[in-house]
Amino acid sequence: MKALIYKDKNKIELKEAPRPIIKDKKDAIIKVTMSSICTSDLHIIKGFVPSANKEIILGHEFTGIVEETGVEVKNFKAGDRVAVNCETFCGECFFCKNKFVNNCINGGWMLGHKINGCQTEYVRVPFADFGLTKIPEGISFENALFAGDILASGYFGVDLAEVNKEDTVAIIGAGPVGLCSLICAKNIRGAKKVIVIDIDNNRLNIAKEKGADYILNPLECNIKEEMIKITAFGADKVIEAAGSPDSFKMMYEIARPNAICAVVAMYEENLVLPLPKMYGKNLIFKTGGVDNTYMEFLHQKIQEGVINTDFLISKKYKLDNIIEAYSFFEKNKGAVLKVAVEP
Ligand SMILES: [Zn+2]
Ligand SMILES: [Zn+2]
Repeated sequence: MKALIYKDKNKIELKEAPRPIIKDKKDAIIKVTMSSICTSDLHIIKGFVPSANKEIILGHEFTGIVEETGVEVKNFKAGDRVAVNCETFCGECFFCKNKFVNNCINGGWMLGHKINGCQTEYVRVPFADFGLTKIPEGISFENALFAGDILASGYFGVDLAEVNKEDTVAIIGAGPVGLCSLICAKNIRGAKKVIVIDIDNNRLNIAKEKGADYILNPLECNIKEEMIKITAFGADKVIEAAGSPDSFKMMYEIARPNAICAVVAMYEENLVLPLPKMYGKNLIFKTGGVDNTYMEFLHQKIQEGVINTDFLISKKYKLDNIIEAYSFFEKNKGAVLKVAVEP
Protein backbone atom coordinates (compact mmCIF):
# COMPACT_ATOMS: atom_id res chain seq x y z
CA MET A 1 0.00 0.00 0.00
CA LYS A 2 1.03 3.64 -0.42
CA ALA A 3 1.86 5.62 2.71
CA LEU A 4 3.09 9.10 3.63
CA ILE A 5 6.14 8.58 5.83
CA TYR A 6 7.72 11.09 8.21
CA LYS A 7 11.42 10.57 7.51
CA ASP A 8 13.08 13.38 9.41
CA LYS A 9 12.78 17.11 10.08
CA ASN A 10 11.33 18.76 6.93
CA LYS A 11 11.36 15.43 5.13
CA ILE A 12 8.31 13.38 4.15
CA GLU A 13 8.01 10.74 1.47
CA LEU A 14 5.15 8.91 -0.25
CA LYS A 15 6.22 5.32 -0.71
CA GLU A 16 5.20 1.66 -0.54
CA ALA A 17 4.74 0.26 2.98
CA PRO A 18 3.62 -3.16 4.22
CA ARG A 19 -0.09 -3.57 4.98
CA PRO A 20 -0.71 -3.67 8.77
CA ILE A 21 -1.70 -6.88 10.52
CA ILE A 22 -3.49 -7.58 13.82
CA LYS A 23 -0.87 -7.55 16.60
CA ASP A 24 -3.13 -7.61 19.65
CA LYS A 25 -6.51 -9.25 20.34
CA LYS A 26 -8.11 -5.81 20.75
CA ASP A 27 -6.84 -4.40 17.41
CA ALA A 28 -8.81 -3.74 14.26
CA ILE A 29 -7.56 -3.11 10.75
CA ILE A 30 -9.36 -0.24 9.02
CA LYS A 31 -9.48 0.43 5.28
CA VAL A 32 -9.20 4.22 5.03
CA THR A 33 -11.94 6.02 3.07
CA MET A 34 -10.98 9.60 3.93
CA SER A 35 -8.30 11.27 6.03
CA SER A 36 -7.20 14.83 6.67
CA ILE A 37 -4.06 16.86 7.10
CA CYS A 38 -3.90 18.52 10.51
CA THR A 39 -1.75 21.39 11.76
CA SER A 40 -0.25 18.89 14.21
CA ASP A 41 1.15 16.97 11.20
CA LEU A 42 2.95 20.14 10.13
CA HIS A 43 4.26 20.58 13.69
CA ILE A 44 5.75 17.09 13.53
CA ILE A 45 7.36 17.71 10.14
CA LYS A 46 8.86 21.00 11.31
CA GLY A 47 10.41 19.23 14.29
CA PHE A 48 8.27 20.86 17.01
CA VAL A 49 7.12 17.46 18.30
CA PRO A 50 10.26 15.70 19.53
CA SER A 51 8.16 12.81 20.89
CA ALA A 52 7.11 11.85 17.32
CA ASN A 53 8.72 8.70 15.98
CA LYS A 54 10.56 8.85 12.67
CA GLU A 55 9.70 6.41 9.84
CA ILE A 56 6.02 6.33 10.85
CA ILE A 57 2.99 7.02 8.66
CA LEU A 58 1.52 10.44 9.47
CA GLY A 59 -2.14 11.33 10.04
CA HIS A 60 -4.62 10.89 12.90
CA GLU A 61 -8.05 12.04 11.67
CA PHE A 62 -9.94 9.60 9.46
CA THR A 63 -12.91 7.46 8.52
CA GLY A 64 -12.95 3.97 7.04
CA ILE A 65 -14.42 0.50 6.83
CA VAL A 66 -13.52 -2.26 9.26
CA GLU A 67 -11.48 -4.86 7.38
CA GLU A 68 -10.58 -7.27 10.18
CA THR A 69 -10.88 -7.45 13.98
CA GLY A 70 -8.91 -9.13 16.77
CA VAL A 71 -10.66 -11.90 18.73
CA GLU A 72 -11.42 -9.64 21.72
CA VAL A 73 -13.08 -6.84 19.72
CA LYS A 74 -16.75 -7.01 20.74
CA ASN A 75 -18.53 -4.08 19.15
CA PHE A 76 -17.30 -4.06 15.55
CA LYS A 77 -17.17 -6.43 12.62
CA ALA A 78 -15.80 -6.39 9.09
CA GLY A 79 -17.79 -4.06 6.86
CA ASP A 80 -18.77 -1.52 9.56
CA ARG A 81 -18.42 2.13 8.54
CA VAL A 82 -16.44 3.89 11.25
CA ALA A 83 -14.83 7.15 12.28
CA VAL A 84 -11.63 6.86 14.31
CA ASN A 85 -10.70 8.72 17.48
CA CYS A 86 -7.41 10.62 17.23
CA GLU A 87 -6.67 9.34 20.72
CA THR A 88 -5.96 5.77 21.67
CA PHE A 89 -7.32 4.71 25.06
CA CYS A 90 -7.84 1.46 26.93
CA GLY A 91 -11.24 2.13 28.55
CA GLU A 92 -10.13 0.44 31.76
CA CYS A 93 -7.60 2.58 33.65
CA PHE A 94 -8.43 5.23 36.29
CA PHE A 95 -8.37 8.05 33.73
CA CYS A 96 -10.51 6.23 31.16
CA LYS A 97 -13.08 5.29 33.82
CA ASN A 98 -13.38 9.01 34.65
CA LYS A 99 -13.63 9.98 30.95
CA PHE A 100 -10.18 11.65 31.11
CA VAL A 101 -9.13 9.60 28.11
CA ASN A 102 -6.40 12.03 27.06
CA ASN A 103 -4.40 10.81 30.04
CA CYS A 104 -5.03 7.09 29.56
CA ILE A 105 -1.99 5.31 31.02
CA ASN A 106 -2.04 2.81 28.14
CA GLY A 107 -2.66 5.22 25.30
CA GLY A 108 -2.76 8.93 24.43
CA TRP A 109 -1.95 10.40 21.04
CA MET A 110 -0.50 7.36 19.27
CA LEU A 111 -1.75 7.30 15.64
CA GLY A 112 0.52 9.27 13.32
CA HIS A 113 2.74 10.19 16.28
CA LYS A 114 4.05 7.06 17.99
CA ILE A 115 2.56 4.42 15.67
CA ASN A 116 1.50 4.37 12.02
CA GLY A 117 -1.33 6.78 11.20
CA CYS A 118 -3.92 7.22 8.46
CA GLN A 119 -2.38 8.97 5.45
CA THR A 120 -2.33 5.62 3.73
CA GLU A 121 -4.73 2.82 2.71
CA TYR A 122 -4.95 0.57 5.82
CA VAL A 123 -4.41 1.34 9.52
CA ARG A 124 -4.08 -0.81 12.63
CA VAL A 125 -6.20 0.75 15.43
CA PRO A 126 -5.41 -0.49 18.98
CA PHE A 127 -8.24 -0.85 21.57
CA ALA A 128 -10.69 -0.84 18.67
CA ASP A 129 -13.80 -1.05 20.88
CA PHE A 130 -12.90 2.40 22.24
CA GLY A 131 -11.08 3.96 19.28
CA LEU A 132 -13.82 3.32 16.72
CA THR A 133 -17.30 4.84 16.43
CA LYS A 134 -19.91 3.54 14.01
CA ILE A 135 -21.04 6.15 11.51
CA PRO A 136 -24.84 6.38 11.67
CA GLU A 137 -27.09 6.03 8.62
CA GLY A 138 -27.51 9.05 6.45
CA ILE A 139 -24.07 10.41 7.28
CA SER A 140 -21.27 10.25 4.72
CA PHE A 141 -17.59 9.66 5.48
CA GLU A 142 -17.04 13.31 4.70
CA ASN A 143 -19.73 14.39 7.20
CA ALA A 144 -18.18 12.21 9.92
CA LEU A 145 -14.50 12.97 9.28
CA PHE A 146 -13.83 15.60 11.96
CA ALA A 147 -15.55 14.06 15.01
CA GLY A 148 -12.32 12.20 15.81
CA ASP A 149 -10.20 15.32 16.25
CA ILE A 150 -11.03 18.97 15.47
CA LEU A 151 -14.80 18.91 15.93
CA ALA A 152 -14.29 17.08 19.23
CA SER A 153 -11.64 19.65 20.24
CA GLY A 154 -14.02 22.51 19.42
CA TYR A 155 -16.80 20.90 21.44
CA PHE A 156 -14.34 20.17 24.25
CA GLY A 157 -13.66 23.94 24.51
CA VAL A 158 -17.40 24.59 24.80
CA ASP A 159 -17.71 21.84 27.41
CA LEU A 160 -14.72 23.10 29.44
CA ALA A 161 -16.17 26.61 29.37
CA GLU A 162 -19.57 25.22 30.49
CA VAL A 163 -21.32 27.26 27.78
CA ASN A 164 -25.07 27.63 28.25
CA LYS A 165 -28.02 29.66 26.90
CA GLU A 166 -27.37 32.70 29.09
CA ASP A 167 -23.79 33.12 27.93
CA THR A 168 -21.95 35.64 25.86
CA VAL A 169 -18.99 33.64 24.62
CA ALA A 170 -15.78 35.00 23.13
CA ILE A 171 -13.81 32.62 20.92
CA ILE A 172 -10.23 33.65 20.16
CA GLY A 173 -9.03 32.06 16.92
CA ALA A 174 -11.19 31.24 13.88
CA GLY A 175 -9.18 28.25 12.67
CA PRO A 176 -10.87 24.86 12.35
CA VAL A 177 -11.07 24.29 16.13
CA GLY A 178 -12.36 27.80 16.89
CA LEU A 179 -14.98 27.50 14.13
CA CYS A 180 -16.06 24.13 15.56
CA SER A 181 -16.37 25.77 19.01
CA LEU A 182 -18.53 28.44 17.37
CA ILE A 183 -21.01 26.02 15.76
CA CYS A 184 -21.18 23.91 18.93
CA ALA A 185 -21.68 26.96 21.20
CA LYS A 186 -24.43 28.36 18.96
CA ASN A 187 -26.20 25.28 17.63
CA ILE A 188 -25.74 22.70 20.39
CA ARG A 189 -25.58 24.83 23.54
CA GLY A 190 -27.69 27.75 22.26
CA ALA A 191 -25.32 30.47 23.54
CA LYS A 192 -26.95 33.92 23.57
CA LYS A 193 -24.11 35.74 21.80
CA VAL A 194 -20.85 34.54 20.29
CA ILE A 195 -17.99 36.91 19.47
CA VAL A 196 -15.20 35.52 17.28
CA ILE A 197 -11.78 37.20 17.26
CA ASP A 198 -9.04 36.59 14.68
CA ILE A 199 -6.46 38.54 12.69
CA ASP A 200 -7.54 36.92 9.39
CA ASN A 201 -10.58 38.51 7.73
CA ASN A 202 -11.23 35.46 5.49
CA ARG A 203 -11.67 33.30 8.55
CA LEU A 204 -13.74 35.96 10.31
CA ASN A 205 -16.10 36.07 7.33
CA ILE A 206 -16.55 32.30 7.55
CA ALA A 207 -17.29 32.72 11.28
CA LYS A 208 -19.93 35.32 10.43
CA GLU A 209 -21.50 32.96 7.88
CA LYS A 210 -21.53 30.18 10.47
CA GLY A 211 -23.44 32.20 13.03
CA ALA A 212 -21.01 34.49 14.91
CA ASP A 213 -22.96 37.49 16.26
CA TYR A 214 -19.85 39.67 16.20
CA ILE A 215 -16.48 39.33 14.47
CA LEU A 216 -13.52 41.38 15.67
CA ASN A 217 -10.05 41.79 14.18
CA PRO A 218 -7.43 43.04 16.69
CA LEU A 219 -5.47 44.57 13.80
CA GLU A 220 -8.44 46.79 13.00
CA CYS A 221 -9.99 47.68 16.36
CA ASN A 222 -9.33 47.87 20.09
CA ILE A 223 -10.65 44.52 21.31
CA LYS A 224 -11.02 45.52 24.96
CA GLU A 225 -13.08 48.61 24.04
CA GLU A 226 -15.26 46.67 21.59
CA MET A 227 -15.85 43.94 24.16
CA ILE A 228 -17.04 46.50 26.74
CA LYS A 229 -19.44 47.96 24.14
CA ILE A 230 -20.88 44.51 23.40
CA THR A 231 -20.87 42.95 26.85
CA ALA A 232 -20.66 45.67 29.55
CA PHE A 233 -18.35 43.65 31.84
CA GLY A 234 -16.58 41.30 29.45
CA ALA A 235 -17.36 37.80 28.19
CA ASP A 236 -19.02 35.22 30.46
CA LYS A 237 -16.92 32.50 28.84
CA VAL A 238 -13.74 32.74 26.80
CA ILE A 239 -12.43 29.91 24.62
CA GLU A 240 -8.79 30.41 23.58
CA ALA A 241 -8.16 28.50 20.36
CA ALA A 242 -5.39 30.63 18.84
CA GLY A 243 -2.26 29.78 20.82
CA SER A 244 -0.05 32.89 20.79
CA PRO A 245 1.23 35.06 23.67
CA ASP A 246 -1.13 37.83 22.46
CA SER A 247 -4.18 35.59 22.40
CA PHE A 248 -3.29 34.23 25.86
CA LYS A 249 -3.21 37.77 27.28
CA MET A 250 -6.40 38.72 25.46
CA MET A 251 -8.19 35.75 27.03
CA TYR A 252 -7.97 36.98 30.61
CA GLU A 253 -8.33 40.64 29.65
CA ILE A 254 -11.69 40.23 27.85
CA ALA A 255 -13.17 37.85 30.45
CA ARG A 256 -15.55 39.46 32.95
CA PRO A 257 -14.86 38.87 36.66
CA ASN A 258 -15.77 35.29 37.67
CA ALA A 259 -15.74 34.11 34.04
CA ILE A 260 -14.46 30.73 32.85
CA CYS A 261 -11.46 30.76 30.51
CA ALA A 262 -10.94 27.53 28.55
CA VAL A 263 -7.63 27.01 26.78
CA VAL A 264 -7.73 24.47 23.96
CA ALA A 265 -4.83 26.05 22.03
CA MET A 266 -1.27 24.69 22.09
CA TYR A 267 1.52 27.13 22.95
CA GLU A 268 5.11 26.96 21.85
CA GLU A 269 6.55 28.72 24.92
CA ASN A 270 5.89 29.31 28.63
CA LEU A 271 3.45 32.13 29.39
CA VAL A 272 2.90 34.02 32.65
CA LEU A 273 -0.35 35.02 34.35
CA PRO A 274 -0.07 38.41 36.17
CA LEU A 275 -1.66 37.01 39.32
CA PRO A 276 -1.01 40.01 41.65
CA LYS A 277 -2.79 42.32 39.18
CA MET A 278 -5.57 39.80 38.66
CA TYR A 279 -6.21 39.18 42.34
CA GLY A 280 -9.93 39.51 43.03
CA LYS A 281 -11.01 39.05 39.41
CA ASN A 282 -11.67 35.43 40.42
CA LEU A 283 -11.31 33.83 37.01
CA ILE A 284 -11.56 30.08 36.53
CA PHE A 285 -8.96 28.64 34.16
CA LYS A 286 -9.24 25.26 32.51
CA THR A 287 -6.83 23.77 30.01
CA GLY A 288 -6.86 20.69 27.95
CA GLY A 289 -5.94 18.33 25.22
CA VAL A 290 -9.28 16.93 24.13
CA ASP A 291 -10.80 14.12 26.18
CA ASN A 292 -12.64 12.85 23.14
CA THR A 293 -15.60 10.89 24.45
CA TYR A 294 -17.97 12.87 22.23
CA MET A 295 -17.92 11.09 18.88
CA GLU A 296 -21.27 9.34 19.07
CA PHE A 297 -22.93 12.48 20.39
CA LEU A 298 -21.41 14.67 17.67
CA HIS A 299 -22.39 12.22 14.91
CA GLN A 300 -25.91 12.30 16.27
CA LYS A 301 -25.95 16.10 16.09
CA ILE A 302 -24.70 15.92 12.50
CA GLN A 303 -27.38 13.35 11.69
CA GLU A 304 -30.06 15.62 13.18
CA GLY A 305 -28.77 18.52 11.08
CA VAL A 306 -27.86 20.58 14.16
CA ILE A 307 -24.23 20.97 13.06
CA ASN A 308 -22.30 20.31 9.87
CA THR A 309 -18.54 20.51 9.34
CA ASP A 310 -18.33 19.95 5.57
CA PHE A 311 -17.44 23.64 5.07
CA LEU A 312 -14.05 22.98 6.70
CA ILE A 313 -12.84 20.98 3.71
CA SER A 314 -11.21 23.55 1.44
CA LYS A 315 -9.90 21.00 -1.05
CA LYS A 316 -9.72 17.23 -1.63
CA TYR A 317 -6.68 15.36 -2.90
CA LYS A 318 -5.97 11.79 -3.90
CA LEU A 319 -3.41 9.99 -1.74
CA ASP A 320 -1.13 9.87 -4.80
CA ASN A 321 -0.92 13.67 -4.64
CA ILE A 322 -0.54 14.05 -0.89
CA ILE A 323 2.83 15.80 -1.11
CA GLU A 324 1.15 18.49 -3.21
CA ALA A 325 -1.71 18.57 -0.67
CA TYR A 326 0.79 19.28 2.13
CA SER A 327 2.37 22.19 0.29
CA PHE A 328 -1.07 23.58 -0.62
CA PHE A 329 -2.12 23.32 3.04
CA GLU A 330 1.04 24.98 4.29
CA LYS A 331 1.24 27.78 1.71
CA ASN A 332 -2.40 28.83 1.99
CA LYS A 333 -2.72 29.12 5.76
CA GLY A 334 -5.58 31.47 6.47
CA ALA A 335 -7.56 30.80 3.30
CA VAL A 336 -7.43 27.02 3.69
CA LEU A 337 -9.07 25.40 6.71
CA LYS A 338 -8.62 21.65 6.13
CA VAL A 339 -7.49 19.41 3.31
CA ALA A 340 -9.07 15.97 2.87
CA VAL A 341 -7.19 13.02 1.37
CA GLU A 342 -8.77 10.00 -0.31
CA PRO A 343 -6.87 6.77 -1.06
ZN1 LIG B 1 -5.09 16.88 14.70
ZN1 LIG C 1 -6.99 3.99 29.85
